[in-house]
Amino acid sequence: MSQRILVVEDDAPIVRTLRINLRARGYEVDIATSGRAALAAVDELVPDLILLDLGLPDIDGVEVLRRVRRRSDVPIVVLTARSDADDKVEALDEGADDYVTKPFGIDELLARVRANLRRSLSAPAPLPPVHTDDFDLDFAALQARRDGRPVRLTPTEWKLLSELARHHGTVIPHTQLLQAVWGPAYGREANYLRVYANQLRRKLEPDPSHPRYLITEAGMGYCLRW
Ligand code: CA
Repeated sequence: MSQRILVVEDDAPIVRTLRINLRARGYEVDIATSGRAALAAVDELVPDLILLDLGLPDIDGVEVLRRVRRRSDVPIVVLTARSDADDKVEALDEGADDYVTKPFGIDELLARVRANLRRSLSAPAPLPPVHTDDFDLDFAALQARRDGRPVRLTPTEWKLLSELARHHGTVIPHTQLLQAVWGPAYGREANYLRVYANQLRRKLEPDPSHPRYLITEAGMGYCLRW
């Protein structure tokens, strides 16, 4: 599964450029052309990174940023056409991770996207590597191998695995996992965990339908053991 980028932008030519270039690099791209659509998309799509235009037709971009930050710590790169430095400062104060000024070069923008995806993954203290009979996880380098072959994990999958590995051998309640991965506003979305646990099993377990490492404790939570 590829990394998911939410583009929040109302300028059609910029949307087109971003969509083409991001898809060409293997990202999954969702588009929101208003602040309201962006806030709905953050909840529904759980993006790995947001590119956020500050000049939106309905809600001010900085206000969108503020509201996203109340529910998620997803990396946000702000796109601003405004020459006014105050907007950038305000956006950074409200929790933007980075900004790019329009008109931007696509290579520069892609570099920022990569850097911010990387930074968001390495924020908590990296865990020691995990070696099992079937797979290896290197949390510092964000590299996974199954039977010696590289496996691509998404940022969300890494976050979930980190939280499980940090407490390996014990059952982590749904709420704790949801808050660690998606942010403090989450807690009841057990369906997210089901989806991601199944993805991880397909990628890592020798027999995904009879998991040996990533165990569901019905009604309680999940446990990673090795
Ligand atoms: Ca705009």
